[in-house]
Amino acid sequence: MYTLNETHDPALRSWVASANDAGADFTIQNLPFAAFRRKGSAEAFRGGVAIGDQIVDLAAVAQAGLFSGAAAEAAQAGAEERLNTLMGLGQPAWSALRLALSRGLRAGSEQQSALQACLVPQQDAEYSVPARIGDYTDFYTSVYHATNIGAQFRPDNPLLPNYKWIPIGYHGRASSVNVSGTDFRRPQGQTRPSEGSSTPNFGASQRLDIELELGIFIGCGNAQGEPIAMADATQHVFGLCLLNDWSARDIQPWEYQPLGPFLSKNFATTISPWVVTMEALAPYRTAFTRPEADPQPLPYLDTPTLWTQGAVDVQLEVLVQTQQMRDAGQAPESLITTNYRHAYWTIEQMVTHHTVNGCNLQPGDLFGSGTLSGPTLDQAGALIELTTGGKNPVTLANGESRTWLLDGDSIVLRGWCQKDGAARIGFGECEATILPARQG
Ligand code: MN
Repeated sequence: MYTLNETHDPALRSWVASANDAGADFTIQNLPFAAFRRKGSAEAFRGGVAIGDQIVDLAAVAQAGLFSGAAAEAAQAGAEERLNTLMGLGQPAWSALRLALSRGLRAGSEQQSALQACLVPQQDAEYSVPARIGDYTDFYTSVYHATNIGAQFRPDNPLLPNYKWIPIGYHGRASSVNVSGTDFRRPQGQTRPSEGSSTPNFGASQRLDIELELGIFIGCGNAQGEPIAMADATQHVFGLCLLNDWSARDIQPWEYQPLGPFLSKNFATTISPWVVTMEALAPYRTAFTRPEADPQPLPYLDTPTLWTQGAVDVQLEVLVQTQQMRDAGQAPESLITTNYRHAYWTIEQMVTHHTVNGCNLQPGDLFGSGTLSGPTLDQAGALIELTTGGKNPVTLANGESRTWLLDGDSIVLRGWCQKDGAARIGFGECEATILPARQG
């Protein structure tokens, strides 16, 4: 776990004025990472750090030789096309770069003019997925989501007996993880036979859904056969992003037994370009709780800091903008708000459980948290819950209604951390629009 240091001081102000705006996501206390280049250019992608409405170009920082020691080494690694090398350098290097950037971007810094020359406006940038993702694992860490979904499939027995003992997960697909702004086609596939037929249907999915999740980027990995202990797990995590695990709810029930979800999940996953580091999130770590009547974590999933700082207080929101809204110039409308602190299993428990059998993680591996539904229905992280399996459509302000997503719908995820005594930090946005299915 991280302790608070000078980079978290809520009194810090940046000479990049937009970073000091009330409600800014990319304050000087945040300093998240992305891979970017100038929009429409043939430039190589390279790492960048957000400050206000600007990006600090790490390739420019490295070339100018602005930093020394571990911070210089980290900036050099961050100059590469993807962030894997930086992620693999480990926490001391990440912290050194964060401290150097924090000092250089502060109001009154002697490095202002040198760093000013390394800025690229975010409005001129395009992004790639921040790392080469070797493996993607999706978890299922919201007990509310697991219970709501389970109740639709098994009304008498919604939560399976393993849920409260194991952070449930499955191996997902890395090749179709897209960065925000990448639109994708509605998937087609097999669905259950209609009443009176024994042949499954085939066609475009009619039950396309979202899953509001956080993505977890692994920093340093572990050698195969060497599990990561709970007490060490935070140091193996580089940071968090927003993640939308699009799901075809009609393809899923026909295919998911006995080996789990497959084509209902692997056609597209959208992540935000910005990765907020675990160090930036330190002021927002908060107590983890487990109802007394529930099983307590097995010893390998327990450590003293779990109970004091295991959870993370991240506020989350899902917004929708339909084609009709876009045509009318209407801004995206809020559908769902919730908070990551409701999760039943923590980031550290996911890392430790994933490696307890000797499985090796690598820099740039991605975890999904699982759909982050909160305790009440208006905090549901997916339409399948919000509409109770499609039975109760959601009505939008312009009179349109939705049970499942329609072509032209754009979904925006937002996330931020805010409380008294700490600086606000945010994740920016994770957005994609549904394109019509391929014909045939
Ligand atoms: Mn998921």
